[in-house]
Amino acid sequence: MDKLTHLTIEDALAGLKNKDFTATELTQAHIDAMEANRDLNAFIVETPEIALRQAAESDKRYAAGEARPLDGIPFANKDLFCTEGVQTTAASKILEGFVPRYESTVSAKLFADGAVMLGKANLDQFAMGSSNTTSAFGNVISPWKATDGKDLVPGGSSGGSAAAVAARMAMGATATDTGGSIRQPASFCGIVGIKPTYGRCSRWGVVAFASSLDTPGPLARTVKDNALLLASMAGHDPKDSTSANRDVPDFVSAITGDIKGLKIGIPKEFKLDGMPAEIEKLWEQGMAWLKEAGAEMVEISLPHTKYALPTYYIIAPAEASSNLARYDGVRYGHRSTESKTLDDMYKKTRAEGFGDEVKRRIMIGAYVLSAGYYDAYYIKAQKVRRLILQDFEKAYETVDAILTPTAPSGAFAIGENEDDPIKMYLNDVFTVTANLAGIPAMSVPAGLDANGLPLGLQILGRAWDEETVFKVGGVVETAAQFSAIPQAIMKKAA
Ligand code: GLN
Repeated sequence: MDKLTHLTIEDALAGLKNKDFTATELTQAHIDAMEANRDLNAFIVETPEIALRQAAESDKRYAAGEARPLDGIPFANKDLFCTEGVQTTAASKILEGFVPRYESTVSAKLFADGAVMLGKANLDQFAMGSSNTTSAFGNVISPWKATDGKDLVPGGSSGGSAAAVAARMAMGATATDTGGSIRQPASFCGIVGIKPTYGRCSRWGVVAFASSLDTPGPLARTVKDNALLLASMAGHDPKDSTSANRDVPDFVSAITGDIKGLKIGIPKEFKLDGMPAEIEKLWEQGMAWLKEAGAEMVEISLPHTKYALPTYYIIAPAEASSNLARYDGVRYGHRSTESKTLDDMYKKTRAEGFGDEVKRRIMIGAYVLSAGYYDAYYIKAQKVRRLILQDFEKAYETVDAILTPTAPSGAFAIGENEDDPIKMYLNDVFTVTANLAGIPAMSVPAGLDANGLPLGLQILGRAWDEETVFKVGGVVETAAQFSAIPQAIMKKAA
């Protein structure tokens, strides 16, 4: 059964159709892998009963010749997506015990297409972080190991989703990307992830972090598997007023391998001072691959790039402080039992329920929104956000897509960067601009660093043009031939 967990979604669908194995067998193999890898702490809640029930329904549909697009495919659901009847925590104590009475649009769509939920994946608390060390349910441990044997972070915030996919516990996963949370864990774990255009996937039923930036999307091991998942997750939803009423293109057909004549932008401002040589080398390798495939590299300028991180770390906390005001102990989850007055109850509930990073963001957010500072910080950041968007619009007058590294390094050890929040925020230097501009961006594994750990390349596209991102991503994937397997599962297979 071990082999079943190594299949791509594409091959598993073919095998199911061909009756080589059943959805129940495929699901059971993944449940076994999930149990064998509990030491990675990738799941907050496992839902094997739901998975096996859904798989049995898939098997009936296969038998009746009525299979749906993702019938029988086991996936991990980031615990930020509300699931009807299954605890949803956003990895925070404040939501412990919260059982939604409704299903997020994205997971409902996956279910409607026959996908099978293995469990709720661990994440950084309220999706705030780049290391999955802010979860109230413990760190996720990457299936990749440092050369000295130290445990590494899987990246964040979708760390549980990425670790589950990389360790072959799940064939794919839901994730969200507010400032890089799909792409950076994809890069750290050696898998593929796409943040679609803002508005492509509904945010309805996704616990809110920063509403103007939050973007649901998929994680999987190949570009095509991402296309299959995104096709199911995307689409207009009247329940989310920012969801776009546009047709969903055929992402799978976009992966033609043909990029002849495409112009790929190389933003000179992304060549940061002090960028590690191996990251620069990987980037150059990426350019060479695309050139070889017939694309033209064009140097472009995105002059406001240097303001992207500070802009993001004003806007995201501002929106978070407003979104998280709803956790007052009255309507959801945790309520302090220590308090005597209503005011006291609010304060104690929030003090007990939120983790340190979440509190830090709420304080920054409340500060930049407060009278006297609002114009200097929040309004200024909104203006800079517009300039960043205009930089991209101008660049896309001459280029079709943009190539950059995904993250400034490979995975780091758990505990590293912990006492210096600014250092942690620097991880997002290449990813936040896509969120501020609302444009699609994908990370594709492209090589290994000096420690044998995965590194990703990022492909950014025009708004609503995920097709070009998939096309270019497919070419990078074919050229890179990334086939390294995390040590954790090699050890277990031995
Ligand atoms: N690392 C970024 C942050 O901490 C992005 C998180 C995300 O995309 N959800 O805010």
